[in-house]
Amino acid sequence: MESRDAERAGGDTSRGARRTRCSRRVIRGDASRRAAGSIKSLVYSPSVRNKRATFALVCQTLKYLPILKEVLASTGVLTSKWKKQEELVFVTAYDILFGQETAASGSVEQLIMLHKDTIMAALEKMCIRRKVRSVEDLVSKKRTVKPKPRFLRVNTLRTSTDSVVEELNKIHKVDKDELVPDLLVLPPGTDLHNHHLVSEGKVFLQGKASCMVAVALCPEPGWKVIDACAAPGNKTVHLAALMNGEGSITACELNKERTKTLQNTIRRSGANNIETINGDFLDIDSNDPSYAEVRAILLDPSCSGSGISTERLDHLLPSHSRGNQDDASTSSRIRKLSAFQRKALSHALSFPSVERVVYSTCSIHQAENEDVVSSVLPLASSLGFELATPFPQWRRRGLPVFEGSEHLLRTDPEDGLEGFFISLFVRKAAAAADAVKPSNGGLGVSKQVFKRRNGLMAFGSSRLSRMMMLCSTRGLSRR
Ligand code: SAM
Repeated sequence: MESRDAERAGGDTSRGARRTRCSRRVIRGDASRRAAGSIKSLVYSPSVRNKRATFALVCQTLKYLPILKEVLASTGVLTSKWKKQEELVFVTAYDILFGQETAASGSVEQLIMLHKDTIMAALEKMCIRRKVRSVEDLVSKKRTVKPKPRFLRVNTLRTSTDSVVEELNKIHKVDKDELVPDLLVLPPGTDLHNHHLVSEGKVFLQGKASCMVAVALCPEPGWKVIDACAAPGNKTVHLAALMNGEGSITACELNKERTKTLQNTIRRSGANNIETINGDFLDIDSNDPSYAEVRAILLDPSCSGSGISTERLDHLLPSHSRGNQDDASTSSRIRKLSAFQRKALSHALSFPSVERVVYSTCSIHQAENEDVVSSVLPLASSLGFELATPFPQWRRRGLPVFEGSEHLLRTDPEDGLEGFFISLFVRKAAAAADAVKPSNGGLGVSKQVFKRRNGLMAFGSSRLSRMMMLCSTRGLSRR
């Protein structure tokens, strides 16, 4: 395949040309897919050699794609001869006009070089017509996804939120998130990757939606908890922080390499109550006495990643514009993923003492979200679980495809967040036991509102007793 591409590109085998051809293959490969995939899943396939550079080139080309299409069409460069390999023309045009490529050894490179002045002149005219100063401004005008704030979670096992705010405030504008405790909000584009607070594990660069998952599970200090699909471990160490480092967490991860990443994350967090297992969560025997006291399970399994990838420009991939819910639910990739998700969720619910199970994804597809939850509801109900409402104040709930979907939570790029999905199953007996704790004054569940010691509110009355509410001050009281 690569050599045929090289032939068409004029036989050029330089590194730049190879990278360009790889990018073309990624974009062309995507164009023939039915389901929306992510750029990462396409670039990180074994056949792509220089993954990092290819990923960067694909992202940049996709950013410039609407402009490139327009200008190459208006200048007549994309004749029917070149139309057959238009992806290669787009990538090469981006690389020559705005990127790093200077050599003009392949035939596509020669085509772009030949018309370079005409294309640049057309771009200039376009800028004048649209009243912008540069092509970059044109590109950002075309982009529909608005820039998102940067979030970072303070690792309260290592430091306090106030001291991080004090330090970061010297250079950056920092706000505390109103919903998630210990989450800080910084302006879009703030880059803290190399900051010492990150390398020392005092803060984790973690999106808000991702942080809402562990908070929804709300494990208490001292509990035994399983993180079923754990790597790279951001939510595992968030759980450890929420538990104040007390109790124990079993973090299970199927992939060997990713288990190492998980272990690194754990080391960086300073948590010392987490045991890792490199294995299949489905192979953990729920009747094994060592798991008899597990009270909470976080299940954040492999998913299509379609919620995250919107942020990463996947909305510009050819398949994205054609991909809709129907495509997604019928695609074999999504079908396979949701079959595993269903199995894993049923398995999580089968642990004898588990009281709280969170099932979450970073997918926007109903097939991986509402459909998975509704398919396990009969089993969940037979085991005494019901759906509870994490973050009741959050407006965007599950798609209304079954009764009770209002308990589910969705986040969306429209909210300035990644696309996430969170569901929370709570064992009725546990909810009821909470409701009759002494703080309740022995009033049972009738018409009384109780506050649990972990900040969860359980509501009396038959309807309200099904709702679990997260107290916004939760977590702060523990410091
Ligand atoms: N919760 C993680 C975090 O926030 O850092 C992200 C988890 S990621 C979405 C899903 C992970 O599940 C992947 O690392 C994948 O290798 C792992 N996985 C997939 N199938 C699994 C299985 N059967 N048992 C355990 N882990 C599995």
